[in-house]
Amino acid sequence: MEDSPFRGVVACLATMHGKQWALRPLLRRGLGMSLRVARVDTDALGTFTGEVRRPGSAPETVVRKARLGMAATGSPVGLASEGAFGPHPAVPWMSADVEYVALVDDRSGLTVVERVVSLETNHGQVVTDGRDRPAVLAFLRRVGFPHHAVVVQPATGPGRPDKGLRRLADVLGALRRASADSADGNAVLGADLRAHVNPTRMRVIATAGRLLVRRLATACPACGAPGFGPVGAEGGLPCRDCGAATRHDALLVSGCARCAYRSRRPVTGRADPASCPRCNP
Ligand SMILES: [Zn+2]
Ligand SMILES: [Zn+2]
Repeated sequence: MEDSPFRGVVACLATMHGKQWALRPLLRRGLGMSLRVARVDTDALGTFTGEVRRPGSAPETVVRKARLGMAATGSPVGLASEGAFGPHPAVPWMSADVEYVALVDDRSGLTVVERVVSLETNHGQVVTDGRDRPAVLAFLRRVGFPHHAVVVQPATGPGRPDKGLRRLADVLGALRRASADSADGNAVLGADLRAHVNPTRMRVIATAGRLLVRRLATACPACGAPGFGPVGAEGGLPCRDCGAATRHDALLVSGCARCAYRSRRPVTGRADPASCPRCNP
């Protein structure tokens, strides 16, 4: 960290949801960088409860969000995080939290986006009119309530979501109101995914932050720019029994955020014949 190009830099972090609690210590320890919170309206770039649709993909939005904070504070260095919840890209029957964190540095023209895919999430919802008390309580237990907050909104039609609910009486009251407001008499009860009321998500953001710090602490061997790290993989790991190429990663590719330099590191070991197209077609 002695020669960190970010030492002494004060970056702005665009957040309304306390993400500085996850990111500030990591950036200070790993890069010598401090954070100033830019309280910009990040909800304008999309909300989990659907009032505002995200205008682009998550990796685009995270950079846009960092720029929003930079514009508001005049800081040349900005950070932001953005989460996407849904089926796991490789294990579609499981829910995943994909968290992106970005650093934009206009002093050097550097944009670095890091990503982590985590199965650690309480993402989920149920449709209920609130009268089936055991079902409501079972859902609340499953999402870690009241340590994690929940959201209630009408199942159909307009109607603002009630967010950040952490008391049972509030949840039941919101379910009554929302189902009365809904054409079909039902409400949607879901986990509140905003970081400041979802400690599970805050931990995943910290994991993404650690990866970002590691990448920013790594200089490109070719051009010296910070931000060198994993960019992908190439398949073809040989089968343990017959040596045929499998779809498993054979090469891990690292790349630079500024220049075209790439390095390829072979994966050690062999693939299980169960995943071999010749042994187990
Ligand atoms: Zn084989
Ligand atoms: Zn480079």
